[in-house]
Amino acid sequence: MSPIEAKPDKAQMLCVSIHDVAPATWPDCLRLVQAIRAVADIPLTWLVVPHYHFRPERSAAMEAGLGAALARGDELALHGYSHLDTEANGGGLRARFLRNVYTRREGEFAALSLDEARRRLALGLDWFAERGWTPSGFVPPAWLLGEGAWQALREAPFAYTTTFSHFHCLRGGPVIKSPSMVYAARNRSGRWLSPKVADATAAMLADSPLVRFSLHPPDARYPELMRHTQRVLEKLLARRSAVTKAECARRLAGEESVTGGVTSGGPSSHLPSSPDPSPGPVHNAASRPWC
Ligand SMILES: [Zn+2]
Repeated sequence: MSPIEAKPDKAQMLCVSIHDVAPATWPDCLRLVQAIRAVADIPLTWLVVPHYHFRPERSAAMEAGLGAALARGDELALHGYSHLDTEANGGGLRARFLRNVYTRREGEFAALSLDEARRRLALGLDWFAERGWTPSGFVPPAWLLGEGAWQALREAPFAYTTTFSHFHCLRGGPVIKSPSMVYAARNRSGRWLSPKVADATAAMLADSPLVRFSLHPPDARYPELMRHTQRVLEKLLARRSAVTKAECARRLAGEESVTGGVTSGGPSSHLPSSPDPSPGPVHNAASRPWC
């Protein structure tokens, strides 16, 4: 690679997010961040779940850590309220498979009514406000958004949301196709295959304005995944600027001429949004996230 090619292109962005941030996952979240910081001092987006799995724990250490992260330039985004899909079964086979098998009932916003989605967004925003935090992004658990949730989101004060395959600027901004790089850590075949799929995704998106890398707490328990994360970050950061998702939304909203996979308009029909609504060759089962 020549020096010119290695120069970061400000127009090309990398968003790294830490999913499922909660007291129960906090030690693993810290391990993830430690692995990232060992190779790259970059801004991160922490996806925080206020009442994760309805567990009772509170963590002053986590809240202090998140406050410090915010102060250093990271972003805190709302990632559902409980991260659990508590609604009754319904819909077609595909929807039931997504909710029950594929995401193991973690897609909290997959089947909520408009009123219930509004209520849970409000609970989440209240939790943030009690700590003096104002999230500008909402990422649905399991990247699943039903129609009620989409409607509630359109009314809520968020600048963006993301599904597995797209980055949606709300408030009339663009929608970018950007399948997330993600590991399938819960079984051996997934740990073997998903880094390869992530590499293929990065290669496929080489000329795209945005690459997303989503890390989950269980990833931290596998050194091979953390080593892969570090290699990927070093490679991507040779050409891209790391930004929070909030900053990405700001740039996209102000730079509609950014090339590569940008479509106009907001969310249209999503019942619910699949983690992979338009599967391509690199989106095989091993790459698919569950939370
Ligand atoms: Zn999640």
